[in-house]
Amino acid sequence: MSLRLYNTLSGQIEELTPQPGRPLSIYACGPTVYDYGHIGNFRTFVQVDILRRFLKLQGMPLRHVMNITDVDDKIMARAAAAGQSIGDYTAKYEAAFLEDLNALAIEQPEFLARATEHIPQMVGLIEKLVERGCAYRGENGSYYFRIASFPGYGKLSKKDLAGMEDGARVDVDEYDKDSARDFALWKAAKPGEFHWNTPLGPGRPGWHIECSAMATEYLGETFDLHTGGEDLMFPHHENEIAQSESASGKTFARHWMHIRFLLVEGKKMSKSLGNFYTLRDLLLRGYKASAIRFLLTAVPYRNQLNFTFEGLTESTNAVERLRTFIERLRKGEFPAGVNAAILEATERAGKNFIASLEDDLNTAEARAAIFELVRLANSSADRGELRQDNVAPILEVLAKFDQVFAVLEDHDDAVTRFALDWAAKENRLTEATTELVAGYSLSAEAIDKLVEERTKARKSKDFARADAIRKELAEKGILLEDSADGARWRRK
Ligand code: AMP
Ligand code: ZN
Repeated sequence: MSLRLYNTLSGQIEELTPQPGRPLSIYACGPTVYDYGHIGNFRTFVQVDILRRFLKLQGMPLRHVMNITDVDDKIMARAAAAGQSIGDYTAKYEAAFLEDLNALAIEQPEFLARATEHIPQMVGLIEKLVERGCAYRGENGSYYFRIASFPGYGKLSKKDLAGMEDGARVDVDEYDKDSARDFALWKAAKPGEFHWNTPLGPGRPGWHIECSAMATEYLGETFDLHTGGEDLMFPHHENEIAQSESASGKTFARHWMHIRFLLVEGKKMSKSLGNFYTLRDLLLRGYKASAIRFLLTAVPYRNQLNFTFEGLTESTNAVERLRTFIERLRKGEFPAGVNAAILEATERAGKNFIASLEDDLNTAEARAAIFELVRLANSSADRGELRQDNVAPILEVLAKFDQVFAVLEDHDDAVTRFALDWAAKENRLTEATTELVAGYSLSAEAIDKLVEERTKARKSKDFARADAIRKELAEKGILLEDSADGARWRRK
């Protein structure tokens, strides 16, 4: 097994390795569950899923942890505004997050760790930092990390900390990207605020300490890989390193992977620009889950991805092309024997696919290797030159492709139906969704049945019945494509 992955810490591409005799340990920063996830968040989670699935394909045993941040300033404010406990408030969005992972075929890691279930570990870590002189209690009862006590501060983000003021503090978790300040480890409760009673006094943890405590709990003081979106590099990950290494005296994560941002039509996604989309927004516009997932892998994780609706349509077509091709291989009849040139092209595609992913997870090249094979095999089949013994090796390469990309097996109908049910329950159906609702009034099974009936009608030359079925399907936005190998349907 081999994976050469860029390491933000060293600034170099390095072999990702486990510690001897241990599974590869990964800590992935997870969501803050205060709202529905947007497609930028899912760009990061899909890319981590590509990493995870590729390591599994290579036979690497994994111990992968993702946190769920279920307490923070935003959550406290929103829960209070809704008159709910933070547990009740976050339960809904945590469930939605897991549903969204499922919709996008993102595998769950070995461990999901909720911040609120690890308060004693966080308190223990803070006490250790106080003992070591790296943390102090402010007059307001909050605890802060003294960054002047950690000479390595800035080594991940390569910040120049000259001019940093000793003792200047911030309480917010996401502070100014250009300045370093002592940051809150524990926030003392203000009167009436939700809190935990602990030896540190009544309060709640800061965001950074959560990840340090949970990573150590599940993976030990030193582990192999830490991941997150590029925005987390500073201050969040820098602070995690400072806290953890000050407490343990050991290297925290050996390898750091940062996924670059998703932009929308070239701009930062933001509510005020009106270019902010949740996964559910896109599903309700009729885009398929597989197309969204596939789009999020279109460029490698170290490049920013520019989301456009054109790109999403291209992605829809690309997935469709792959599925049609597989159907053609499975159902088609080919002359006996093997086409040597195609066999060679198949082996080459399989090798290039793996080699591209081994090379810093180059998803773009891995996809290109597969599409090249599809192009060659399709044109060979068009000329009647594809042979029966070419089919199994091609399907094998495609199966490997799908163990990583996970777009060929078709769950799209079920996902869209799920989104429509959710929208109906939450009163989010709009005029724009009316057509979609009509289209999905027929289930995939019901359509399969009608298509089968139409094929039979055509065979027995009952063209009136066959045409009536085609018309009925067309009215519901379902397109039929007839080929020598039978009829396929898809939703418009
Ligand atoms: P949050 O729920 O805000 O804590 O973010 C969850 C994950 O999504 C983090 O790893 C973020 O770095 C990542 N993220 C947030 N916005 C984007 C974006 N536009 N593109 C890619 N990743 C993002
Ligand atoms: Zn984190």
